[in-house]
Amino acid sequence: MGAREDDRRRIPRTDVLLNDAEVRSAGRDKSVAEVEFVVRGVLARARSGQLGVDDVRAQVLSEVASPTYSGTPVLNATGVVVHTNLGRAPLSSGAVSAMVAAAGYVDVELDLATGRRGPRGLATREALLRCVPAAEDALIVNNGAAALTLVCTMLAQDGEVLLSRGEMVEIGDGFRIPPLIESTGVRLREVGMTNRTRLADYADAIGPRTRAILKVHPSNFRVSGFTTSVGFAELRTLGLPVIADVGSGLLSPDPALPDEPDAATTLRDGADLVIASGDKLLGGPQAGIILGSSALVERARRHPLARALRVDKITLAALEATLRGVEAPVPHYLHLDPARHEERTRRLADRLGATVVEVTGRVGGGGAPEVGLPGWAVVLPEACALHLRRGRPTVLARVEQGQCLLDVRCIPEESEEALESAVQFALSQV
Ligand SMILES: *Cc1c(COP(=O)(O)O)cnc(C)c1O
Repeated sequence: MGAREDDRRRIPRTDVLLNDAEVRSAGRDKSVAEVEFVVRGVLARARSGQLGVDDVRAQVLSEVASPTYSGTPVLNATGVVVHTNLGRAPLSSGAVSAMVAAAGYVDVELDLATGRRGPRGLATREALLRCVPAAEDALIVNNGAAALTLVCTMLAQDGEVLLSRGEMVEIGDGFRIPPLIESTGVRLREVGMTNRTRLADYADAIGPRTRAILKVHPSNFRVSGFTTSVGFAELRTLGLPVIADVGSGLLSPDPALPDEPDAATTLRDGADLVIASGDKLLGGPQAGIILGSSALVERARRHPLARALRVDKITLAALEATLRGVEAPVPHYLHLDPARHEERTRRLADRLGATVVEVTGRVGGGGAPEVGLPGWAVVLPEACALHLRRGRPTVLARVEQGQCLLDVRCIPEESEEALESAVQFALSQV
């Protein structure tokens, strides 16, 4: 059903709105094409009767003035630290400043002393190597999947890679390791059984075209019971390069996450190359980190595919600042002092007149599935969750057993007041 005929005639014309001084001023941050897109959209809704004719101008003014970036910042009250749907790791303020500094012209590939071209991202690589002295060299690419693609292609494009059946992993959202590797033309040879793979299984599988052994950390599940897997020191005895995809990006051991492998230990145990993500437990930007043998890292750096997978200057800046700066938000939230967490939760509950329950926070991001982070949450009526998602600031809470649970674990202390007012608003709506 469209607008009535006499109403239709009163709808302002596109060019009139585009030339309206107030519209132009409200839309000054937007391109001409974007303003036109907004105006046409509003007019189409008026013609179809979805929008009253008298509301057209106000709607145009409001829409052209909206920010040019549409992402909505979210207060993460779920207690899930690396939340995939919220963009994994929130960056430290140091990393944010570094990204702003790198946004303009910056000496990312220039040696200012000589005025000549310099190695790209040298400082980030050095920062990484200071954090993992067991690595001889490091290369940073777009993400963990890119790192895996690059390393497998470089080592085994004309051959095959061995992988245990117990490590044929689906990471999340349908992303599986085997098809990724095979998409590069590398053949994947399955070794052993789901629960048990022995050194002899690897040794028996080696043929004339075997180029490397891959070990993938099953980040998001555990096989327990009657199990056997082979360590790096043993695998090394087979005389092939051993690649370890540790996934989470821990650079050194974390006592709070005893089952998570880390880069330093994995290299010391005998892996030739370690692959990890930058935006999981490391708490940095999206990146893929390759660490290990200088000969292999150099080969990866010189491989033609490396150019297609390289990271931008903004990522290099954020990663360097994450590595050199104070504890990033992700490790901070993982190691939160329980007493302080309880105190903050009780204070918020008191102000809201709500109760507190014990809850278990999660590492998230497909990591450490068996690690629960003991904590507390404020209990609200279930219907609050929707109003919190739609409010400003936007708050994502956890809904469980008919309750809306607010966990302040991943909320910066300076955002607590904003959180409280968002909750007061949500409570007033239910
Ligand atoms: C997360 C993960 C990946 C993929 O890394 P991205 O950075 O998401 O591309 C690969 N392997 C393992 C074991 C992982 O946990």
